[in-house]
Amino acid sequence: MADQPSGCALDRVLIVGGGVAGTAMAILLRQRGVAVDLVEIDGQWTGQGAGITITGPTLRALRPLGVLDRFFDYGAGWSGGWVFNRQGELLEELHTRPLEDGTPATAGIHRADLHRLLVERCQALDTSVRLGVTVTRLQDLGGEVEATFSDGVVRRYSLAIAADGVFSKLRHSMLPDSGTPQYTGQACWRLVADMPKGMDRSMMYLGESGKIGFNPIGRGRMYMFLLEHAPTDPWRDPETQAQVLYELMDGWGGIVPEVRAGVLRNPSINYRPLKGGTVPRPWKQGRTVFVGDAVHGPTPHLASGAGMAVEDCVVLDQELQRHADLAAALQAYEDRRHGRCHFIVSTSIRLGQMEIAGADPAEHTRLMQSAIDALRQPI
Ligand SMILES: Cc1cc2nc3c(=O)[nH]c(=O)nc-3n(C[C@H](O)[C@H](O)[C@H](O)COP(=O)(O)OP(=O)(O)OC[C@H]3O[C@@H](n4cnc5c(N)ncnc54)[C@H](O)[C@@H]3O)c2cc1C
Repeated sequence: MADQPSGCALDRVLIVGGGVAGTAMAILLRQRGVAVDLVEIDGQWTGQGAGITITGPTLRALRPLGVLDRFFDYGAGWSGGWVFNRQGELLEELHTRPLEDGTPATAGIHRADLHRLLVERCQALDTSVRLGVTVTRLQDLGGEVEATFSDGVVRRYSLAIAADGVFSKLRHSMLPDSGTPQYTGQACWRLVADMPKGMDRSMMYLGESGKIGFNPIGRGRMYMFLLEHAPTDPWRDPETQAQVLYELMDGWGGIVPEVRAGVLRNPSINYRPLKGGTVPRPWKQGRTVFVGDAVHGPTPHLASGAGMAVEDCVVLDQELQRHADLAAALQAYEDRRHGRCHFIVSTSIRLGQMEIAGADPAEHTRLMQSAIDALRQPI
C-alpha cells in the first residue's frame, strides 16, 4: 500500500456496485494506492442505456479520474442548442459557456462507451473486481466491517461504499427509514440513431405536456429522449415498445419525422419510468457510506445524475484524505454533499412537474438556469 501520511488509514475498501459511482470511487482510491474490492451484481457489466449528456460540471468531476483525454475518442462536445415548438419552429437559441478551459460547454457519449472508459481505467489500476456477485450481509464490527458475499467469500474491510444505484438494496437494509424512490409521473424513452444532416448541437422540441430532445454522442451518432406524461406508471411490453414510441412521435415537426421513420427497426429503444428523490440524512452507518443514485436519484431534466455521482466520489475521497478519523471524514462528506444534491434532485423533479402542468416556458427556463448556475459553483 502507498504511503498515507495523513487521512484515514484504509487497509482495504469494499465498493458495492460498478456503475458510474462505483467505478469512479474505485479509480480515485486505486490512484492513491488503496486496496479495493469492487463487486457488481451484473455478470455482463456492459453498461446499459442509450446516450448520456455530460455537462461542464460533470466534465470537471471526471477530470481527476484520468479519463478525459480519451473521452473525445468516443464522445462529442458542443456549445449551445436550439429550442423548437412541437411544429418545429425555432423558439430560442441557447448559448452555453464551457466551465473550464480546454473542455466544451456540453458533451455527449454512448453509455457503453463511458462505461468502457471507466472500466478500462479501473483495470489499468489493477482494481480487484468480481462480477455476478453481491453482498448478502454487512456487519459493522466497530474497527472493521465484515462482508459476506453471494459467492460464499467472507472478508473484512476498513470501509464499505454502497454505490448500488437508485433501487439500492443496501440502503433498504441499512437505512430502513430512507423510503423508496417515488414515481414522478413521467417516463423517458431513449434511442440511438445516426445524426440527421445539419445537427451539430442539442435540439429540443417542446410539446404541451412532453418534449423530445436530441444530443450528439460522437462518431456520427446522436441519442434521442422523449419525455412522456404517463400518470399511472404503465407497464410497457418490450415487444410493442417500438410501436408505442412510433405513435408518440407522430405529429411533431423538425427532425422528428426523419428519426421516426427508423424507429420500428431501431434495436436500441429503452423505456424508463422516472423515479427519484433524495434520501434524508444520514447517508452512512458506522463504516458504510452511500454514494450516487443510492442516496440521490434525479430525473434527467438537468442531465446531472452521473455528474453528481462522480462529484460524491471526488468529495468523499478528499475528506478521507483530510481526516484521520473515519467518522469525521464521512460526516464531512455528507455535510458537503447533502444540500447540493437535494437541490439538484428536487429541481429536476420540479421541472418535470412543470412540464406535466404545461407551465410557462419562461418560468421553466428560469428555474433550469438557476440550477445550471448552482451546478457550476465549486464543489
Ligand atoms: C432516463 C435517464 C436518463 C438520464 N440521463 C442522464 C444524463 O443525460 N446525464 C447524467 O449525468 N445523468 C443522467 N441520468 C442519471 C444517471 O444515469 C445516474 O445518476 C447515474 O447512472 C448514477 O450512477 P450510480 O453509479 O449511482 O448508479 P447506477 O449507474 O445505477 O449503477 C449502479 C450499479 O450497481 C449495480 N448493482 C445494483 N444492485 C447491486 C447489488 N445489490 N450488488 C452489487 N451491484 C449492484 C448495478 O448493476 C449498477 O452497475 C439519467 C437517468 C435516467 C433514468
